[in-house]
Amino acid sequence: MRITRWLIGSLITLLIIVCVLTIAFQVRPTTEGWPAYTAQPADQTNHPSLSITWLGTSTLLISDGTTTLLTDGYFSRVSKLDVVTRSLSPNVARINKNLRAANIEKLDAVMVVHSHFDHVMDAPWVAMKTGAHLLGSESTANVGRGAGMDEKDIRVVTPGKGVQYGDFEVIFLSSEHVPQAEWIDRLTGMGEDISEPLSPPAPVDAWKEGESYVLVIRHPAGNIVIQGSAGFADGQLDGYQADIAFVSSVGLSRQASGYTQDYVRNTVRATGAKAVIPIHWDDFFVPLQAGTPALPYLMENLPASFTLLAEEVKKAGAKFEVMQPKQTMTFSKQSAAKDLSASHATSE
Ligand SMILES: [Zn+2]
Repeated sequence: MRITRWLIGSLITLLIIVCVLTIAFQVRPTTEGWPAYTAQPADQTNHPSLSITWLGTSTLLISDGTTTLLTDGYFSRVSKLDVVTRSLSPNVARINKNLRAANIEKLDAVMVVHSHFDHVMDAPWVAMKTGAHLLGSESTANVGRGAGMDEKDIRVVTPGKGVQYGDFEVIFLSSEHVPQAEWIDRLTGMGEDISEPLSPPAPVDAWKEGESYVLVIRHPAGNIVIQGSAGFADGQLDGYQADIAFVSSVGLSRQASGYTQDYVRNTVRATGAKAVIPIHWDDFFVPLQAGTPALPYLMENLPASFTLLAEEVKKAGAKFEVMQPKQTMTFSKQSAAKDLSASHATSE
């Protein structure tokens, strides 16, 4: 009798915890009130331009019409339950659906910024489906091998050494991951490598960080810098110019005072980028769509992180603009430099 009562009591407590957590994970900020990127009128001067689409997390599709590159290519967007049950694997149907929706048939390279699941997990599948090379660290290469990729399509990068794809030059530079709580570090293999071919399904801790990179992508239309995690190595971009910076904003509000100043110095100021777009702030545990919401407050305080970032970006003389998942921009160095008077944060 006593055991039955204890069991019922435990079940009710568990149910209450699950309900409270479910509700808490629905409380999220929006990007309303922040300056939005809006497409500019067609350029009459025939400057070369690129099309850049943000596909959530650190996934960016970059094309000049002839050559097409993709960072990360994370489309599976596994659920929190998958993380808890320690069974993560690419959702091939979802990957293919997203590739079709973004009109991606052929890619030249899939470039992985580090080897956590929300960056590398789908990259080999995307590369194999589109005939692309997989570029990244040795850890990323091992995810490619575990997926059955042909060794000739896997390229382990050398930091600072450019790789040419059509008119694009892709340069990986050594960087750092954003600092996280110690328990998350342990859970996500921070500072550790994936030392053997990794075949999914695998638990979250199998997708270790490997090397973290900041990417510089050079093109006659303009140069792009991509920081897929809000970390940096001091001096990482010294000597590199960029016109636009796509930088992760996630985790900035949890860092020590002065961190964002150093972050912006090592991404925006170092390159002289005139336009800054925050990325990775979308809730990557829900499927990608035009209205994919921001991460819940429990995971990230977007208004606080955006405020810190936007202030430093403004001080650096650049504009801070927010793109929504699946939004496309037409980019050229001229458009990045164009001053938009309403480009600075108006938020609280
Ligand atoms: Zn990460």
